[in-house]
Amino acid sequence: MKGTIFDIQRFCLDDGPGIRTTVFLKGCMLRCAWCHNPESLSDKVQLAYYENKCVRCGKCREVCPNGVHSFTEDGIRQVHFSSCVACGNCVRACPADALALLGRSMEASDVIDQVMKDEAYYRHSGGGVTFSGGEPTMQFAFLKELLQLAKAKGLHTCIETNGCLAPARMKELLPLLDLVLLDYKMTDEDMHKRYVGIDRSVVLATFAFMGEEKQPVVLRAPIIPGLNDNEEHFAAIRALKAKYPNILRAQVMPYHTIGKGKYGEIGMDYTLSSLENATETQRAAWQARVDTEE
Ligand code: SF4
Ligand code: SF4
Repeated sequence: MKGTIFDIQRFCLDDGPGIRTTVFLKGCMLRCAWCHNPESLSDKVQLAYYENKCVRCGKCREVCPNGVHSFTEDGIRQVHFSSCVACGNCVRACPADALALLGRSMEASDVIDQVMKDEAYYRHSGGGVTFSGGEPTMQFAFLKELLQLAKAKGLHTCIETNGCLAPARMKELLPLLDLVLLDYKMTDEDMHKRYVGIDRSVVLATFAFMGEEKQPVVLRAPIIPGLNDNEEHFAAIRALKAKYPNILRAQVMPYHTIGKGKYGEIGMDYTLSSLENATETQRAAWQARVDTEE
């Protein structure tokens, strides 16, 4: 079975125990304002344009069947991303590497072959493979096959998920999962709808389901200064930990600006431009508030 991925990163140390390979699947049903992987949101292969590399030669305009690339009479370079069908003509024609297609279609078996290259590291470190995104469960059948193949190889398996998959569907995956990294993003109901895009009850139902199933979970909490770095939120995280013994720990994920520049490259707007990277001091303070015993 084939699926669409946008990256395979080796030697990851923060996506589960030990040394891991993290496979990033394309597609997500949410649009969190702080997402640092905007290229993961669409489930399609998509065009990226790197303005600082462009020498304005016009080759892309000549070869594009859909008029995606244009120049105004004033010489302003325009890219009409929504008309692109990802044929790749312009990427091949560009002499300056100013264009790229993000994402590729891969067989599940080829993904696992790549993952297995670091098997020795997994064995010695207690690591394995993590499937992330995007939201990996968006490509449910592909993810299931990846997990089956990984398990058949004896790998420790993990997914990083936003908790939107219906529990009945998630149940199919649990026998194939050693660990779930489950996001908890906002406590204020209105803010959750506004900045995450869905009702918080969907995610709470997933925490409850994981608890009933005794599924080992690491709660992952992105902390965004000014949005959710408040006592109500930290107290809610502590309460979840106290309520569900299957939550092994809660891990703060401090806001950073790594993804900011990528938005424009794929024709998207970034709405949190005024925010700065969280500092190590902030991260440690937030983690301490999450770790305080109730
Ligand atoms: S990938 Fe194809 S459709 Fe998209 S901009 Fe390039 S030439 Fe046009
Ligand atoms: S082909 Fe490449 S360098 Fe030339 S105008 Fe298009 S994007 Fe710019």
